[in-house]
Amino acid sequence: MILITGGAGYIGSHINKLLNKDGYDTIVLDNFSSSNKNTVKWGKLVEAELKDTQALNKIFNKYQIDGVIHCAAFTSVPESVEYPAMYLKNNYQNTLNLIKVMKQNNVKDFIFSSTASLYGNPLEMPITENAPTKPINPYGQSKLLVEKTLENESKNGNLNYIALRYFNASGADPESEIGEMHNPETHLIPLILNTAMGKQSYISIYGENYNTPDGTCIRDYVHVNDIAKAHILALNYLKDKQKSKIFNLGNGEGFSVKEVINTCQEVTGTTIPTIIKSPRKGDPEKLVADSTKIRKELNWKPKYDTLNKIVETAWNWHKKQ
Ligand code: UDP
Repeated sequence: MILITGGAGYIGSHINKLLNKDGYDTIVLDNFSSSNKNTVKWGKLVEAELKDTQALNKIFNKYQIDGVIHCAAFTSVPESVEYPAMYLKNNYQNTLNLIKVMKQNNVKDFIFSSTASLYGNPLEMPITENAPTKPINPYGQSKLLVEKTLENESKNGNLNYIALRYFNASGADPESEIGEMHNPETHLIPLILNTAMGKQSYISIYGENYNTPDGTCIRDYVHVNDIAKAHILALNYLKDKQKSKIFNLGNGEGFSVKEVINTCQEVTGTTIPTIIKSPRKGDPEKLVADSTKIRKELNWKPKYDTLNKIVETAWNWHKKQ
C-alpha cells in the first residue's frame, strides 16, 4: 500500500489515479485545505492533518505501508511571500512529523514533491541538479529545508528518498476526470482558462521588463501525468536499489507568460484580454530544466512534449467544470 499525502490535490490526485490504474493499492491522506473529496475517486481516504501524529500512526498500524509519496503542501509563490511562517510550518514542520512517524514504523521509501523554486535565479540555463540551491521565496525555502532533512536522514540510514524537483506542473487527466483548480487560484494556465471561460475579464501579466526575449517570465511546463509517471518509476527504483536520488522534472523547453497566453488563445479559440502589472515578489526570471538525469537513470520520457498538447488536456477538463 502506498500512502499519498495531499492525494486530493492537483498533482496528488493524478498520481493516485495512475497508481491505481497500474495496480497499486493507495491510501490518500488529506485535510482538504485547498481541495475537496470529489477528487479522491481511487483508493482509500483518510481525512487528517499531517501534524496529527496519532492519526498518522493509526494509518501505519492499520495498513502495510510500503512507501510514502509526500505531496501535501502549500504551493503558491505569492502566498508564501505574504505568509512565510505559514509556509514553513505547513511545508517543513509538518513534514518532520511525517518523517518521525515513518521512522517509528520502519517505513523507508519516501518520494518528495520538490520544486524548481529552490534554485532561485540560477546562473546557468537549462538547470541541472548540481546548480546551487538559493531559493528567493519562502515556498522554495520550505522545500529546500525538507530536502536537507531527507539528505541527513538518508545518510543516517533512516530512509531512502527521491526528491522530484517539479518545474511547472500543468495540464489535466486526459479522461477529464480530474484537473487543476486551486482556491484561490494563482497559477497561470488555469487563470488564463478561467478568463477564456468568462469567469474573469482579463489576465494580469506580472512584469514585462525581465531580461527575456519578450520581457515576461519564462517557465518549463510539464504535464501532470508525466509527473505522475515519474513517481511510479521512482517507487520502483527505491524498491530495487534502496538509494536516495534527486531529479529535475521538466520538459526542457521554456515558454514566456505571453507565449503561454498565445497558446491558450489558439487552443481555446478565444481572445484573452491582458493587463500589464508590476512584477510579482519572489518570481524568478527564468526556470528551464535539464532533465537528462531522470531520462537516463529512470528511463522517464514525457508523453506531453508540447505546450499545445498540455493546454488541450487542461482546456478539455476546464470546459467540463
Ligand atoms: N503569472 C502571470 N499572471 C498570473 C499568474 C502568473 O503573469 O495571473 C506569471 C507568474 O508571474 C510566473 C508565471 O506566470 O512568472 C508562472 O506562474 P505560476 O503561478 O503559474 O507558477 P510558479 O512559476 O510561480 O510556480
